[in-house]
Amino acid sequence: QSNLSPNYTFGSFIEGDCNRLARSAGFAVANKPGITSFNPLMVYGGVGLGKTHLVQAIGNEIKNSLEDKFVLYVSSEKFVNQFMDAIKEGSVKSFTNFYMQVDVLIIDDIQFFAGKGRTQEMFFHIFNHLHQNKRQIIMTSDCAPKDLMGLEERLISRFKWGLTADLQMPDFETRIAIIKKKMQSEGIMIPNNVVEYLAYTVDTNVRELEGVLISLIAHASLNRVEINLSLAKTIMKNIVKDIETEVSIDFIQKTCSEYYGIKLEDLKAKTRKKEIVLARQVAMYFSKEFTNHSLKSIGYHFGGRDHSTVIHAVQAVNDLMETDNSFRNAVNEQKKQFKIRSY
Ligand code: ADP
Ligand code: MG
Repeated sequence: QSNLSPNYTFGSFIEGDCNRLARSAGFAVANKPGITSFNPLMVYGGVGLGKTHLVQAIGNEIKNSLEDKFVLYVSSEKFVNQFMDAIKEGSVKSFTNFYMQVDVLIIDDIQFFAGKGRTQEMFFHIFNHLHQNKRQIIMTSDCAPKDLMGLEERLISRFKWGLTADLQMPDFETRIAIIKKKMQSEGIMIPNNVVEYLAYTVDTNVRELEGVLISLIAHASLNRVEINLSLAKTIMKNIVKDIETEVSIDFIQKTCSEYYGIKLEDLKAKTRKKEIVLARQVAMYFSKEFTNHSLKSIGYHFGGRDHSTVIHAVQAVNDLMETDNSFRNAVNEQKKQFKIRSY
């Protein structure tokens, strides 16, 4: 009994810059458990970023290729409860013996040990025994070892003996790949614009991304409707609060001021500094392209300027895009986000 879920494999774990180190260290450990210098392997990261998936993938890989190894996955919470029961029943000895027999111990969410002194002491002994005998220890935590509050220093220092690798939120391209993988395993088709919309808007964690996807599929099938963008938007509004589904002038101004590194007020002010003028013209250009505001209204939103100023800005941006490659690429890159939002 290893407590592993067979769905969590390396095959279903999409690789990206967000997880490359953790994933490849995990893969190395899976091929040579206990022998590499990655012992212990400590994977940390925020909620829903794939810690449990990755460490179980390591466990499954070992179990499938090295059948004689005793692989055990346990949540820290379960470990604590088992230990408490063992104390109550006077069976601490057999509890300890059991854990000392394991070849690969995967212990999830170690931050749960915080403040639990007796558990930490017990785990310290088990850890030492396993490590001395070249058994593999794999742990996860919701923060870096140095930030683990309420854990004894001697444990934390041991956690740093091997390799510590973090998981980050996947970028846009990786999110697309994760959604596509999920569609494949669910055997479901989702139009590309919906895939892009979801990948773009859900930037919190992978679990939430999957949650939105599952709701979308469920709604479509229960109501016998197609999966399309308007359904996706409705679901996003119900699940994720404060989502901006429309491209407003405000939003464009905010995005452009961040992109060009200038103050929001300056976009609307009278300043004629070159960088500011350009950022302002680009923002006007996007406002013309992605909103339904009239030239007059756009001018009004940029510090009460005349509609002819807006015409001039659009013309200036078009001209510069024709002559300046890097400017054109930058504008097109920015356009992508507005396009996805305004689908
Ligand atoms: P954590 O343990 O960090 O809270 P999980 O491992 O439970 O996160 O991951 C949450 C969900 O996201 C799981 O369903 C998992 O399969 C999925 N997931 C996370 N990262 C990836 C990834 N890189 N590729 C594919 N699925 C992922
Ligand atoms: Mg987890």
